[in-house]
Amino acid sequence: MVLELYKKKRNFKETPEPEGKPKPIAIGSSTSKLAFVIQRHKASRLHYDFRIEVDGVLKSWAVPKGPSLNPADKRLAMMVEDHPYDYKDFAGIIPSGYGAGIVEIWDKGTYSDLENSDIKTAEKNIRAGLKAGNLKVRMFGEKLKGEFALVKIKSKEENTWLLIKHNDEGAVDGEYNSEDDTPQNSPINKWLTENKPEKVSKASTTSTARQVKKKISIKPH
Ligand code: MN
Repeated sequence: MVLELYKKKRNFKETPEPEGKPKPIAIGSSTSKLAFVIQRHKASRLHYDFRIEVDGVLKSWAVPKGPSLNPADKRLAMMVEDHPYDYKDFAGIIPSGYGAGIVEIWDKGTYSDLENSDIKTAEKNIRAGLKAGNLKVRMFGEKLKGEFALVKIKSKEENTWLLIKHNDEGAVDGEYNSEDDTPQNSPINKWLTENKPEKVSKASTTSTARQVKKKISIKPH
């Protein structure tokens, strides 16, 4: 069943996230491009979620360090369950349960295959790339522009990919950190400012270090 895992992980009485209705059927040719969204998600750990529309759902990867515009960077991207199409517009607070925390939209727009084909051809190429574990896309976002590759790598886990920018007019030479490319007053940045750890005095260093150790959580979700 489509979106089964997505629905299984969530209690829609508690979360404001979309319930996973199928993508509405377009009237005429109003949707001429595939959609993408990148959400910044402050869950147990701050990460980014990279989502692209394929066959009416959003194929999704959790990117712990966020996308980079520097072709020298290979950003770890863990494939996660498909999300419903209307998740592309979701921003808000997940109060409890799976992914509890704050979601904000970091970038959105349309995307295609490298040739910028019509939607049907693009989708066919994207589907083949997913299957092959070697996906090349052209992004038309505010922040992400031009060619990107998603490459599946051999690892203990089945869902490990790398997100890499291709060298083109949308790339940057220097160090790139997606965190620097966020509005100062965004909900997550406000939260981070309000919850900054207090300055640690020498006397309490040991106990604080112990507390920090306890709080460590590795999962991106
Ligand atoms: Mn997430």
